[in-house]
Formats: sequence, C-alpha cells, structure tokens
Amino acid sequence: MAFSERFLDELISRNEISEVVGSYVRLVKRSGSNQFGLCPFHSERTPSFSVSSEKQIYHCFGCGKGGGVINFIMEIENLSYPDAVAFLARRANMELPDENGDRELRSRRERLIALNRDAARFFYQNLSKPAGRAVADYIAGRGISAASVKTFGLGAALDSWSSLCDEMQALGYSATELLDAGLAAKSSKTGSVYDFFRNRFMFPLIDVRGNIIGFSGRRITNDENERKFVHSRETLLFNKSRFLFGLNLAKKSKLGKIILVEGNVDVITLRQAGFDNAVASLGTSLTEEQARLISNYTKEVVIAYDTDSAGKAAARRAIDHLEKLGVSIKILSVPGNKDPDEYIRKNGAGAFAALLSGTGNHVEYRLEEIKSKYALDTDDGRISCLKEAAEMLSTLRSQIEREVYAGRMAELLKISTESMMAEIKRASMRRVRDAKKQQERASRPVSVFRPRERSIRFDNPVSAAAEEGVVRLLLADPELSRETDGLQKEDFSSEFLGRAFLYIKQRCDERRPVSVSLMSSEFTPEEISHITLMMQRPAPVSSGISAMRDYIGVIKRERLLAKSKEDIQDLMELNRKYRESKGLEDKDGKEKH
Ligand SMILES: [Zn+2]
Repeated sequence: MAFSERFLDELISRNEISEVVGSYVRLVKRSGSNQFGLCPFHSERTPSFSVSSEKQIYHCFGCGKGGGVINFIMEIENLSYPDAVAFLARRANMELPDENGDRELRSRRERLIALNRDAARFFYQNLSKPAGRAVADYIAGRGISAASVKTFGLGAALDSWSSLCDEMQALGYSATELLDAGLAAKSSKTGSVYDFFRNRFMFPLIDVRGNIIGFSGRRITNDENERKFVHSRETLLFNKSRFLFGLNLAKKSKLGKIILVEGNVDVITLRQAGFDNAVASLGTSLTEEQARLISNYTKEVVIAYDTDSAGKAAARRAIDHLEKLGVSIKILSVPGNKDPDEYIRKNGAGAFAALLSGTGNHVEYRLEEIKSKYALDTDDGRISCLKEAAEMLSTLRSQIEREVYAGRMAELLKISTESMMAEIKRASMRRVRDAKKQQERASRPVSVFRPRERSIRFDNPVSAAAEEGVVRLLLADPELSRETDGLQKEDFSSEFLGRAFLYIKQRCDERRPVSVSLMSSEFTPEEISHITLMMQRPAPVSSGISAMRDYIGVIKRERLLAKSKEDIQDLMELNRKYRESKGLEDKDGKEKH
C-alpha cells in the first residue's frame, strides 16, 4: 500500500525519533545534538547507537544499521513497511488514509503556482486602473521607480471584497484553490469567500527558482487599526521561515556579499541605488533556515537593521545563526536610527556606500552588548563580564584580533591583559576539547567507508565519495538542487547513489518534502543504513554551493576518465581484430614473424 507524502510527512513529524527510540533504548545526551545508547540490534557494552533529533535519523556505528523512524519500527518490531506505518499512525492517533495522493498533491502545487502568477499579473495591472490609483500614488510617493515596479512585479490589491476572487474564478480557479493559496478567506457567518488582501501595496514573494509562492501586502494609509504588513499564511507553497524577500535577485549580484535589511521597501530602494544584493526576512528575525539559505550564496553578510532595541535583538539572533555557518558578519549602523531607505533618500547612494565600507565589525558590537549586561562597578559584575567576554573572544579565529580585543576589555575591567588572555585561552581549550570529541565521533564512520552490503559496493571510490557528497548536501538543503541541474543519473559510478540522487532531486525540484524516513518505502534497509552513515560526516567547510560544485566536478571528471578508458579498450579491440583479419597476429595475440 502506498501512502501520500503529506500523510507520511505528518506521521513522521508526529513521531519524534528520539521519543520513539527512547521507549526501547535508554538514551543519554552527549555533546552536540546526538543522543547515544546501547544498540538494540547488536550486543554491546559501550553505546555506539546514535539518534539525531536534528536529522531525524538513527545510526549505529557498531553494526551499521540506520534509518528514519519508520525503519526503526520495521526493524525492532519486525514489521513490514505498511505495518510499521500503521503502528506509528496508531501511536500518534492518526487515521490511515485510503489512497495515494502523491500525484494529486503535485498537480495541486502546480495549480497554486499558476494561480499566484495570475494573481500577481492582476495586481500589477491594477496599478494602471483608476481603482488602483491610491496604491500607485503611494508607490510613487515612496520613490519607487517604474522599473522597480516591473522588476519586483509590484501591484495593488483594490479596495474591494471580491475583485481578485471574481477575476481568478473567471480564469477557472476554484474557491478552494483561492483559499489554499492564501489569497482568499472564508466568512465564518455566511461561508462565502472574499479577498484576503484589500487596499494594499502588493509584493509577490518569489523563491530562488522564480516561482511566486505568496504575497506581502503593505497598508497604504496611516490607519493604526490596520496591520502595517500582512503576509500570506503558510500554504502548500509558502513557508515564511524559509523565505527571504529579494534573494531571487540578490543571488545574481556581483557585489560578493548580502545586505540583510528589515523591510521589503529597503530591498527595493537599495537596488535602485545600485545595491542589488539586499534581502529581507518578512518582519521576523532571521531563522536558522533563512541563515542556511543565505550561506548558500555568500560567506559575507552586512546586517542593516534598525538600531532600536527590537532591531538589536533581531541582529543578535541573526549573528548567532550566521556565525554557526561560518559566515562573516558586519553590522551597519545607520546614523539617526534611520532605515537604509530613509537614509539613501536623504543622503544619496554615495553616502550609503561610504557607510557600508566603514561598517563596524560584529566583535565590537557584541562586546558592547556584553558590557551593557553587567554592572561593572561591582566585582561580581566584572567577573561575570570577563567570563562572557572571554568565551566570545575565544571563538575568534585570528590571534591578533583576540589580543586587540583582550587588551581593550582588560583596560575596561581594570585587570591585566595577561589575565584576560589566560581566561580566553582556558575558554578556547575547552572549546577545542569539545570539538575534538565531536570530530572523533564524526570521523569514526569514515574508516569504514565501504558499505557492508555487497550489492552497494563501489567500483570507483573517488567518484563514489563525491556522489555521496551530492546526496548528503541535497538531503541537508533541497535548495541546492538547482546546482545539480546538469547532473544525470548515468554520471554516477554507483547505481545505488545515482538512484538515490534522482529520487531526492525530483522531490526537491517539485518542492516536495525529502527525508530519510520518507525514503524507506523505495530503498532497502541496507541502502537506508548506508545513507544514514553518509549523513554522519561533518558538513563541508566551504559553502553548500561551492561544495556541491566541487563534488559535481569530481563526478564528471571521473565519468570522462572511465569513458576514455572504455574508448581506449574499444580501440585496442578494434586494432586487434584488424590485425587478426590481416593475418598479422594469431588468436593468442602474439605477433607472427
Ligand atoms: Zn548496532
């Protein structure tokens, strides 16, 4: 029996892996995000069975078994795949669906994308109608050019309850589709549907593939009773925490970095002023997913948030997420608490460029933050401040940087630079020790690189390592799928990895969910175990995109090499046949005299 992906996705999310495993295995938390326990599938005294809540997989470094939550139940309860799904459905109080909705889901997504496109066209055309005049005037008043209106596909939602619904229904879209796209809402009294966005300045939300997946609408009046911004709710297409406004354009920038701003309008006016590399999260502080998305395109981010306390808190969270991904961060503070849009309008693009080049770095910013937390006129306050500052400074890679800031902090705290440096060293050694432990655990599987299962042995380990890399990166970040567009299943030296690649890529491209758990219906337990093994490797040091390009380069090169070897063999065979036919050689290949 096949289950719809939507159902399985929900089943998996309602059966958190460490909870399910935890009812069979006593799990202990260790450093990092993994939990460990004694493997239930082989006998052992020291725990080598790991569960990652982050990746929603388990893997045993002893016997090599691994998979998602469905595999675990199949294995431990000795159940078939459909029975394991039924088991987990019961556990989560879910009803089993009766048919396969996959194909239906895919065509629904395509319909919603088309509907969004038509809606965006309608909003755009409204700008030249009398009814759209108020929004058009507002746009002009904000200094947004006609070219920008076109580039961003901006538009107007009319001051009406049904203009969009009427127009879209005339184009053949149903009321349900309008609701599913988040473009309409349903009256609880009458049950009729009406336009969700009314009398607003409309921004289509375009993903990095160029699909319109939702909308933002800004109010054009000063009416405080209306929300300033309204965004599409979560739909089949749209997930706010994984979206950045303007990234579809900023990713093509030649400026080499990305500017993170608060508002959609900032993105637009920055672009008009020549900064084509700005992105905005929709009114929320940067999420982990958004940070990862950014790190795919750049290793340098300038944060240009407002300098009020909300902006500061948002900047701090953004720094936390980006730093973990090895992105270098600069903080831009615009004088006079202005947002970039206002600043550029008053002072011009040149002044903003000057601000950008003189951006203070995040170390100073963070030290300021730490200092402001403690009462430095008390001993307790100074000691706590010293500890936290040392902890932060120990994360800096450059020794010179450490010394410079240690000196400044020491002066402020009225201690010697030596004792400040000693404290930093202690914090740093603690960090190295933890990292080493984690590295040891992560690198263990590399020594057992070859799969145990004979059917998935690799002929070409060089290519296979890169092929694994491609699969691993795709599983970690489906957005990287675009990078793999030229790659064919046939380029893979390993049949199994080629199959895994194709399976994951198709799902990424169709914006369907991808996870190890979802794969268990189409891959053998041995194959799934090998995938979980691959996922234990440390993440690449470089950005996801460049790592992906490197892997693909290796695969293509190895493929060419293999092909030229075959060609040479063919050529030699041809030559041998020729000589044979001319009687120059006998059957054993020895030349005749
Ligand atoms: Zn085991």
